[in-house]
Amino acid sequence: MALSGLDIYKLLPKTNCKECGYATCLAFAMALAQKKVSLDKCPHVTAQARLALESSSQPPIKLVTIGTGESKLELGNETVMFRHEQKFYHPTGIGFLVEDTLSQDELKNRLSKINDLKFERVGQIIKVDLVALKNSSQDKAKFISMVKTAVEATKLNIILISSNADALKEACTIVKDRRPLIMAGSKDVFDSLVTIAKENNLPLVVEGQSLEEIAVSTEKAKSQGIEEMVLYIKEDVLSKKFQKFTLARRSALKKNTRPLGYPLIAFTTQEEPERELEEAISYVTRYANIVILKNIDKDFVFPLLVVRQDIYTDPQKPVQVEPKVYEIGHVTKESPVIATTNFSITYFTVAGEVEGSKVPTYIISCDAEGMSVLTAWAAEKFTAEKIADTLKKCGIEGMVSHKKVVIPGYVAVLSGKLEELSGWTVEVGPREASGLPAFLKGWK
Ligand code: SF4
Repeated sequence: MALSGLDIYKLLPKTNCKECGYATCLAFAMALAQKKVSLDKCPHVTAQARLALESSSQPPIKLVTIGTGESKLELGNETVMFRHEQKFYHPTGIGFLVEDTLSQDELKNRLSKINDLKFERVGQIIKVDLVALKNSSQDKAKFISMVKTAVEATKLNIILISSNADALKEACTIVKDRRPLIMAGSKDVFDSLVTIAKENNLPLVVEGQSLEEIAVSTEKAKSQGIEEMVLYIKEDVLSKKFQKFTLARRSALKKNTRPLGYPLIAFTTQEEPERELEEAISYVTRYANIVILKNIDKDFVFPLLVVRQDIYTDPQKPVQVEPKVYEIGHVTKESPVIATTNFSITYFTVAGEVEGSKVPTYIISCDAEGMSVLTAWAAEKFTAEKIADTLKKCGIEGMVSHKKVVIPGYVAVLSGKLEELSGWTVEVGPREASGLPAFLKGWK
């Protein structure tokens, strides 16, 4: 946990010698806490204090990277318990279990379906991240065969799971360029797992029934040079598992418990797709950094990805679309013009209804700092002045042969002033976007 300015001050020499460029040690401590200056500006800090200060500047939850290149998955490095305190940085990796008990055809079919789990929502691509290749057969040859097939069949990041150290070691030689996460699935081969991870510079999964047991294992692995670890809490009772997830995050963030300062992995246990979805969503909202599912039905994966997208959106920065003129359908100079805000959900809701109406339409998204219509109006970000300015600058005047603009019904109050400022005739549209198809069909 980061130290406060006063905590840092207690570790400084307190001589106020000014050699750091600050008038007092306290002023330097405050600047250091805000990361405005580096510790090496004070030449008098003791080795012991330096160690304490440098250690406190490490992230409380270690950043772990699985994969390489553009599709690599970064996990951890989180700093808060609740997203409204700041934001969550690295979205939960969503993956699927693939077992070597499948035939080659079944395996390729499953991998192909997993690869296709990609969707567009509010202008962003949301997709799955991982396949977890498990040596369920206990047969080394089958596991290696599956790994070879998977390397060719998917570009997703990989988790290798086997309680057979030889199988895991050989699989790593095939796939180590993809930087997989490795997992033993059994405590008996933990020492071998550490050796394989060290030899191949790979992240590994540390498992245990209790947080205390896990903390002992992470310390042991760390003492052998392993830096990147992911924690797997073995607990059958779901409510207890969620409690332990919260406790692990709280211990790392609030008590600076370094042995628990690593990302968490969860495997769903429910068989019914609806129950599995509920379980997976609970993991995403309770600090799991990786969730591995069994079912790959698009209808259940999409809502899970939506929940992840919402939770990992910066609460201070709503998802926005570019403020500009959008053409929906084959627009002409006679097509209607609708003004709305650049809040992504607002824009895509309006655009969806316009598309459904089959009436080609221009939509002008005004820069309202990503707020919805009523919020932006209340915050004076969606005003007559703003809409008039957008109409003037966005180029719409050269695209249509009329000067009529439709504004949302909720801001009908802006009509008079907008007409006065812009010279456009203002038509008040429906309050809800769902009213647009009927409104547009009657538009002249
Ligand atoms: S150089 Fe160090 S001892 Fe001197 S004022 Fe700055 S913080 Fe204090």
